[in-house]
Amino acid sequence: MKCTRCRKNQAEIELIRHNAAFCRDCFVDFFHLQVQKAIKQWKMFSKDDNILIAVSGGKDSLSLWNVLVELGYNVSALFIDLGIDGFSEKAFAKVEAFSNKIGSKLIVVDLKKEGIPIPKVIKSVRRHPCSVCGQIKRYYFNMVAIKNDFDVLVTGHNLDDEASRLFANVLHWKSEYLQDQAPLLPSENGLKKKAKPFFRVTEQEIAAYAFFKDIDYFVNECPLSKGAIFSFYKKELNRLECESHGIKIEFYQGFLKEIRPLLQNAKKDRNDKITFCERCGYPATKNGLCSVCNIKEKINLKK
Ligand code: SF4
Ligand code: ZN
Repeated sequence: MKCTRCRKNQAEIELIRHNAAFCRDCFVDFFHLQVQKAIKQWKMFSKDDNILIAVSGGKDSLSLWNVLVELGYNVSALFIDLGIDGFSEKAFAKVEAFSNKIGSKLIVVDLKKEGIPIPKVIKSVRRHPCSVCGQIKRYYFNMVAIKNDFDVLVTGHNLDDEASRLFANVLHWKSEYLQDQAPLLPSENGLKKKAKPFFRVTEQEIAAYAFFKDIDYFVNECPLSKGAIFSFYKKELNRLECESHGIKIEFYQGFLKEIRPLLQNAKKDRNDKITFCERCGYPATKNGLCSVCNIKEKINLKK
């Protein structure tokens, strides 16, 4: 089959939902274009902005880092060392090697030094590891972005992540989470502006990009991920996508266009009630502390 774009080279990848097949070079151009469209459509950032990208060593974050640098954006990266022995060191090695290759600045936060490595935290907090881990990561992403005066924080969340999160939030009618679901969240209430430039591309498309660009990413599965509920929703959405091509993006974009605007008044009411942590200044949840200061408190009490 010939590439549907240049009509010259042999196609190496078929994208059924776009009714297209591309050769290697045309796919990379197409992929970059999808990211540029996302950035432009949501006015995420410009070439003058200082961008902080959260990286884990996996294909999504390293690919996004690569795209942004190739498109000429000013990017530094942040890696959070979760302190998971046998896993975090390997992830860091990939990130460090990639940072050297690409020539971008890398900032590291070590949770062991912070006193809250994830394996220790999950012994004190009775929740799924991914829920606590996600909360701690978001806290440090925000804190580093604010302290170092970055304009925006970007993450490698893709269409599969966003659509499956939306699917789960709708099935369980989590209206508070639905209010916060968008490819761009503005700077407000002590939280730095956050953007997801990969929201138009799928996990499979990112894997193809990483392969074509020879990105050496970390493939090991996190030992604490067992029972993570989002993989179930992802699988179900992929099943639907096989039956009805394009359903994922239609579901997500439809929500952004039709439903999200209706939720914004409820969000304003919620914002009026927000208080801040008396220790670190991050938005507080209960007893005057934020979620991470609460975790630190619990761990200290157990000592
Ligand atoms: Fe953290 Fe869960 Fe990801 Fe492991 S799988 S790094 S525990 S969010
Ligand atoms: Zn705090």
